Amino acid sequence: SRAALFEGGDKVKVTFKDVAGLEEAKEEVQEIVEFLKNPSKFTILGGKIPKGALLVGPPGTGKTLLAKAVAGEADVPFFSLSGSDFVEMFVGVGAARVRDLFKQAKAKAPCIIFIDEIDAIGRSRSRGNVPGGNDERENTLNSLLVEMDGFGTDSGVIILAATNRPDTLDSALLRPGRFDRQISVDPPDLNGRTAIFQVHLKPLTLAPDVDAKRLSAQTPGFAGAEIANVCNEAALIAARRDKKMVTMQDFHDAIDRVIGGLEKKNKIISPEE
Ligand code: ATP
Repeated sequence: SRAALFEGGDKVKVTFKDVAGLEEAKEEVQEIVEFLKNPSKFTILGGKIPKGALLVGPPGTGKTLLAKAVAGEADVPFFSLSGSDFVEMFVGVGAARVRDLFKQAKAKAPCIIFIDEIDAIGRSRSRGNVPGGNDERENTLNSLLVEMDGFGTDSGVIILAATNRPDTLDSALLRPGRFDRQISVDPPDLNGRTAIFQVHLKPLTLAPDVDAKRLSAQTPGFAGAEIANVCNEAALIAARRDKKMVTMQDFHDAIDRVIGGLEKKNKIISPEE
């Protein structure tokens, strides 16, 4: 069905406290939260509310989480779709989906539309296109541009899009009135990882020896997604060992397992600190 391709329109419970670290990024999106909560405060003075912002950063650093938290903080509906879903789509379908999405979003404004992996639709049109090969992607991109231009800044729909390759994006997407702001969502440093561990340790039943700072020091190069993974794996390992609490040893084994998984995926864990 058509509706299946984008998720949405529901309120979300995620808030900024679920997003660890990323202090600068949170500060930057705070303004968007204010627009969504009280648009007239800005438009009455003649200010133009931005239509969209790009969240730029490597995989697993919390871009989706941050976009959800913006919707959660403003208490508005969250719509999302992924650019990669539009690849290999039949002619006309991608563009129709984009139109549908915007129609539903406008009806539920104020709200957030989140486009994950926007590079999959928004790749530069001049770049390595096989003649006739990328028609539908281009149609989808064009319909996105048309939709973005077609609503006023006071419509209350704000589009956040995520990419780890802003340099590959079609410059049309980056023009004023479109995604004219970029917000960096950087991989966490030592303190950032500690903060992320603290968030994901919270729901677990922990042995007294478990220490977020030490875990952070043992996971250089890990992004938030991997840290969340470690915490969940540790709990599963402890359960399999019939333990009543998750211990540091379970975490060490979980870290090894996650590193093993990353190596398989051919990701490089870069040395840091
Ligand atoms: P991708 O580009 O691969 O889609 P992403 O940047 O959108 O990745 P998320 O999907 O937001 O990353 O992160 C995956 C999960 O990792 C989150 O649901 C959350 O559990 C955890 N996570 C990532 N970053 C953070 C963070 N800064 N604070 C807390 N949890 C985080």
